[in-house]
Amino acid sequence: MDRYGPTPAYTPEGGWEMGEPDKLVKTHCCFCGVQCGIQLKVKENKVIGFEPWEEFPVNEGKLCPKGVKRYMQNEHPDRLKAPLMRSESGFREADWDEALSKTVSEIQRVQQTYGKDAVAFLGGASMTNEKAYLNGKFARVALGTRNIDYNGRLCMVSAGAANKMAFGIDRSANPWEDIPKAKVLILAGTNVAECFPILTDYIWRARDNGAKIIVIDPRITPIARTADLYLPVRPGRDSALAHGILHVMIERGWIDETFIAEHTNGFDEVRELVKEYTPEHTEKLTGVPAKNIIAAAELWGTAETSMLLHARGIEHHTKGVENVLSYINLVLATGRIGKPGSGYGTITGQGNGQGGREHGQRCNQLPGGRDINNPEHRNHIADFWGINEPDLPGEGLTACEIIDAIEEGKIKALVSISFNPLVSIPDSARTRAALEKLEHFTTIDFFLSETARHADVVLAGSLQEEDEGTVTTGEGRCVRLRNSVSPAGNARLDWHIIQDLAQRLGAADHFNFENAGEIFSELTRASAGGPIDYSGMSYERIENEMGVFWPCPAPEHPGTPRLFEGGQFAHPDGRAKFHAFPYRPPDEDVDAEYPIFFTSGRVVSQYLSGTQTRRIGALVDQYPEPLCEIHPRLAERLGIGEGDRVRVSTRRGDIEVPAQIVKSIRPDTVFIPYHWPGKKAANRITNRALDPISKIPEFKVCACKVERAQ
Ligand code: SF4
Repeated sequence: MDRYGPTPAYTPEGGWEMGEPDKLVKTHCCFCGVQCGIQLKVKENKVIGFEPWEEFPVNEGKLCPKGVKRYMQNEHPDRLKAPLMRSESGFREADWDEALSKTVSEIQRVQQTYGKDAVAFLGGASMTNEKAYLNGKFARVALGTRNIDYNGRLCMVSAGAANKMAFGIDRSANPWEDIPKAKVLILAGTNVAECFPILTDYIWRARDNGAKIIVIDPRITPIARTADLYLPVRPGRDSALAHGILHVMIERGWIDETFIAEHTNGFDEVRELVKEYTPEHTEKLTGVPAKNIIAAAELWGTAETSMLLHARGIEHHTKGVENVLSYINLVLATGRIGKPGSGYGTITGQGNGQGGREHGQRCNQLPGGRDINNPEHRNHIADFWGINEPDLPGEGLTACEIIDAIEEGKIKALVSISFNPLVSIPDSARTRAALEKLEHFTTIDFFLSETARHADVVLAGSLQEEDEGTVTTGEGRCVRLRNSVSPAGNARLDWHIIQDLAQRLGAADHFNFENAGEIFSELTRASAGGPIDYSGMSYERIENEMGVFWPCPAPEHPGTPRLFEGGQFAHPDGRAKFHAFPYRPPDEDVDAEYPIFFTSGRVVSQYLSGTQTRRIGALVDQYPEPLCEIHPRLAERLGIGEGDRVRVSTRRGDIEVPAQIVKSIRPDTVFIPYHWPGKKAANRITNRALDPISKIPEFKVCACKVERAQ
């Protein structure tokens, strides 16, 4: 308590006993894309606790360590309760009219001086579908800028791009309830137990049903400890390993030639590509013993039913899309997709990682998952919004590119919401330099994040429990968030703030929503006929049915929990596509100067950039500060003992943290979680090199040196 400041999460004044709640609100946990059902206990407009929501089918009342503490953020003393404006001595409180007027006048000044695209907008993927839709419309119709993107660019975009390339649509293929029906699971680069915790229960149920579990990861993550086969891949070699497994499957005849011929394109190129990835060659590339590559191929190739699940471990790379496509090749080669217990799932990181990328807040996308470069799609949305197609901006820069363009002086003003790039984007010194160059920066947030401290105007927005709307879970199920309490103090609902800005910018005709339900209604109509079709959904249906899976193109349509049944894929010819990308090394590989791999990730008690979870004392207690995981052999060689402070340096900077000596990491690799700011930020040293397709940074591998700090 002394160390982390006043966190009433421990014990509020007067103790915990606050009597019977006024109401129980059925809603969802905000801390990952499982979106577990939870009932918040509300008394006198405060969230005072929770009850399990056992009827919600995904988690049946279960919650992880973050879920049981999520209610504690509501009454935090750091909560922003009024707009702030920068003054010579720091921030001062302002009234809404002054703060909004300042923002609007600065946007207008910058756009008149430098052009519309000199203002950028950055959104978040933990917000509701309604806000994701509103952000896209606000940027394109009210700001008229092409430079809008979101923090899902740091999260799901490699998976999303690969899904579209392989299947023609961007969504997990199966509902989670298919997982326990699988007889073999591959978990590739997914620390499920810490990052998507409740899904662990589904994997354990599969194991109880006799499933074999293959885990591919440079670290023995908690789920790997119960795996039947663990493949400790060398960081940055994931696609080589997938090619090696497929090589063996083809050689031994463990593929479905009939399915491949009838339902896919491109296999011949892949067959040719993987010829050179013999088990021995693959072992040299990946560090995984040849016999285990063969064992994985046999388990996967001969399975009766199977599912592939993957996450950032294979996606956070300069070849993230190629990695995902290489693993999807393993699925398509068996023909086991679109069936109960057989298919594919991509684990989302953020609370609305799926829905946040569907409704138009990406630089290349319009509502309904439409393509901003497709003339038909552009005309459709321009018509729907009542603007001329030439006035609809084209494709803009991605999130990291926006930060770079600010640093280069091409973008002069930024409006952001629920995005903390100073902690979450690699090479934080560069991000800080960019923020300091802005002529104007307005941010909407509920806590003063590290990034918000660089703003000129901070607009006090809303916590998840203060608003209502929908989110779409990692399995493609759209669920309903209920309002539990009203915004604290003089804070406002996020969508009110965006709409107010739009109206002041002269776009009142396009922004006159009375409530979140009206935004959802417009979102569903905008999506009609698009690849991501929500037009058959309503709040009432979503509540009554405990969520609805898209596509759902009509009110009488049941929704689509399982995609690709009957081998029908979403490409125009109905076929899935294999992709043949040769393995290529990471952007920055180890060398004599920087001989150790560095990788980053999460811990179970923290969420994303930590803005919320670093303020919940009971979560801070579980993992108070970043530690550097290091194998005993490497530690011994470097003269490092448990708890010693170590300096980890890369070409971008260094970080000093205590060592945690563990056998659960490769001896050539060290790991530091990324949830902390400033001198504790792992992203001080990570590599901002981008995947050429998804534009995701290479968080998961770069070259470092490690030494004992003096
Ligand atoms: S698994 Fe995710 S949604 Fe469920 S309680 Fe944990 S953090 Fe919340």
